[in-house]
Amino acid sequence: MATTVLEPKDMDWIDKGVLGIEWTDGHKGVYPVRYLRQHCPCAACTDEWTGQLRVNADEVPLLIMVKDVEPVGRYALRFTWSDGHDTGIYSFNFLRRMCQCDICQPVKPEQPKSRRLL
Ligand SMILES: [Zn+2]
Ligand SMILES: [Zn+2]
Repeated sequence: MATTVLEPKDMDWIDKGVLGIEWTDGHKGVYPVRYLRQHCPCAACTDEWTGQLRVNADEVPLLIMVKDVEPVGRYALRFTWSDGHDTGIYSFNFLRRMCQCDICQPVKPEQPKSRRLL
């Protein structure tokens, strides 16, 4: 069996401002675009050495939009944002780790206090 190369198979909007990326392994990724913009991996937004974010999350417009997405080779996507920023190259591995779906980012289990349906 050939190993599946992890790459986006399909992309669609789940909601306004939430990008869905279906991966070749069948996982359906969930990506709020503002979150993606806040974690832009380019040298201006992320410190290359420490990996620390230089973006001030609050400065990213609330209604930031993706103006364009273009593939970079067979390993990454380049996003063009409505705030004019376009130097972020999001590798597939990076994107996959950024997935905000319930499986990848399980919400802390909050036990319903005394809500009983019986
Ligand atoms: Zn950037
Ligand atoms: Zn996920």
